[in-house]
Amino acid sequence: MPAPSDSAPTDAAAVSPAAAPAVPGATARTSDPRLDVLIVEDDSTIAGNLLDFLALRGHRPDVAYDGSAAIERLERDPFDVVVLDLGLPRVDGLDVIAAARQRLLLATPILVLTARDALEARLQAFALGADDYLAKPFALAEIEARALALHRRSTGSVVDAVIEAGELRFDRRTREATFRHRPLRLMARSVLLLERLMRRPGDLVERRELERALWPDGDGTPELLRGQIYLLRKVLQDAGHEGLETVHGVGVRLRR
Ligand code: CA
Repeated sequence: MPAPSDSAPTDAAAVSPAAAPAVPGATARTSDPRLDVLIVEDDSTIAGNLLDFLALRGHRPDVAYDGSAAIERLERDPFDVVVLDLGLPRVDGLDVIAAARQRLLLATPILVLTARDALEARLQAFALGADDYLAKPFALAEIEARALALHRRSTGSVVDAVIEAGELRFDRRTREATFRHRPLRLMARSVLLLERLMRRPGDLVERRELERALWPDGDGTPELLRGQIYLLRKVLQDAGHEGLETVHGVGVRLRR
């Protein structure tokens, strides 16, 4: 990877000199998980530096150069972390966050890259569901450290990527659920509901908590939630699972 030059433009898009890996040819520590990272950045130099660095560190980075390409990639493939530049052509970074959270219902951690003085944009990004930010210019090593930290927080730990409740199994990376090793065909909100219930099998999970989890914007109603519970119960029953129990007016419990 070429070392960033001192004569490079010093605008907000430049990567800081500290961006170069401290040790040329450094490889990832084996204790860190390998992350699937989607880099969304229209500046090809920054995107290339990030891609090279993360690959060198043993991760599996991929790049989308504009907002609509990013949304397509997110729709198609599971990623562990998204590194997202806010200033993008066509569909901007804020729209990408909104699409990921509201339309695709993804919980994938999003690390936002912004200009140093872009407080308003950062606040908007957080309001839409971003998890962290870094101001440009940034050090590549810090991107990796933050991506790893976000990933740890989102999954609890690497082994927690898969959660189990009896013979139900849910992979939080691929967002796929199985019962007795058979895949369950679930709609996006059913996945969110099942995941929430599987975190605490045997516990009564309150309606309000479920509404917040399924409709983070506050659009949830008891009727909508009832509909989602009905849909999930139907899929589970068709698969031979009878463990979804509604306590009227209170909440839902996934039997162990
Ligand atoms: Ca940009």
